[in-house]
Amino acid sequence: MKNYESPLHALEQGTWFKLICGASYQHLPAIRNLALAYTLAGADCIDVAADPAVISAAKDGILAARELARSSGSHDKPLLMASLNDGEDPHFRKAEFDPKSCPTDCPRPCERVCPAQAINSTGVIDERCYGCGRCIPICPQQLIFTRSHIYTPEAIAPLVIASGVEAIEIHTQVGRVADFTRLWQAIAPQLDKLQLIAVSCTDGEGLIDYLWEIADLMQPSPATLIWQTDGRSMSGDIGKGTTHAAIKLGAKVMEAKLPGFVQLAGGTNEYTVAKLDKLKLLKPRSPKSHNYIAGVAYGSYARTLLSPILDRLENQPSTSDACLETNPQLLWEAVALARSLVSQIKSSSKGQVTSCG
Ligand code: SF4
Ligand code: SF4
Repeated sequence: MKNYESPLHALEQGTWFKLICGASYQHLPAIRNLALAYTLAGADCIDVAADPAVISAAKDGILAARELARSSGSHDKPLLMASLNDGEDPHFRKAEFDPKSCPTDCPRPCERVCPAQAINSTGVIDERCYGCGRCIPICPQQLIFTRSHIYTPEAIAPLVIASGVEAIEIHTQVGRVADFTRLWQAIAPQLDKLQLIAVSCTDGEGLIDYLWEIADLMQPSPATLIWQTDGRSMSGDIGKGTTHAAIKLGAKVMEAKLPGFVQLAGGTNEYTVAKLDKLKLLKPRSPKSHNYIAGVAYGSYARTLLSPILDRLENQPSTSDACLETNPQLLWEAVALARSLVSQIKSSSKGQVTSCG
């Protein structure tokens, strides 16, 4: 594995790469394997839904990658980020069953499979269950089901931070200052546990004034700040043109000279870095500039890029747990593909951007 710079240094260098697993993406084996492949490819950050089961799957993938890369002396990266929406109440599920219905001779496979030791003779221990769902199909009596819990963003923020993420992203919209303030007040007491805070916002009338208002609200903050400009959400895999909205919005926010870094998202794809280079929005090698697009986040494009490989893995009967590293050929195919995307922004500081025509 190549020895890339640390994630926060990548922001300063203008070579920051983030993988967005998606706020509503809950396919845990795929999240784990995407985190694994993109970690090995040199990603700086893996961004997942603020769902304990999803966070755990991504962590698992990052740990597996670190294990594979241990001998190379690679940096301890990427950062794990959880995304919270300031205007929506997230749903989380918990498993449940009635222990009185269990046959006395059941070998209790549910207990063995639970990674959180959340099952005992009394049933499911609510506080420990993080809704991964592994116990459900394994019960021969089909006694286990899940129920949905609704949390407010303010209630879930401390739980998410306690689950070990190093970064939080707040998704907001112009005009939601009251919602943003409530969420920020829940996060602020725990800032010492975070390396990075990102704010993701779509365009809208009064955007720059709104961003300044929340920038002031967040000061002083010991964590590094990123402004994620969400051009055209979940569209990067549609075609070349989707990148324009992301770049246009990124340039607009960059001009506002807010404190922190500006990073693109929403519609980003294989054309984005070349287009940024053409428009001279990447960090120049000289003269020194403090105003540049510090990095790019890829969502649907990055996931779609690897989906044929992950589909092949899941369709192989011998890899029932669907861990990518159990099939080295598929693993390194996936890493090579992921690296073809990661290397675009990584090589931008060395003047090696491929032309987009
Ligand atoms: S295995 Fe079942 S009880 Fe254990 S954490 Fe997952 S969903 Fe909860
Ligand atoms: S596997 Fe099913 S039947 Fe057996 S102990 Fe667990 S919940 Fe009860």
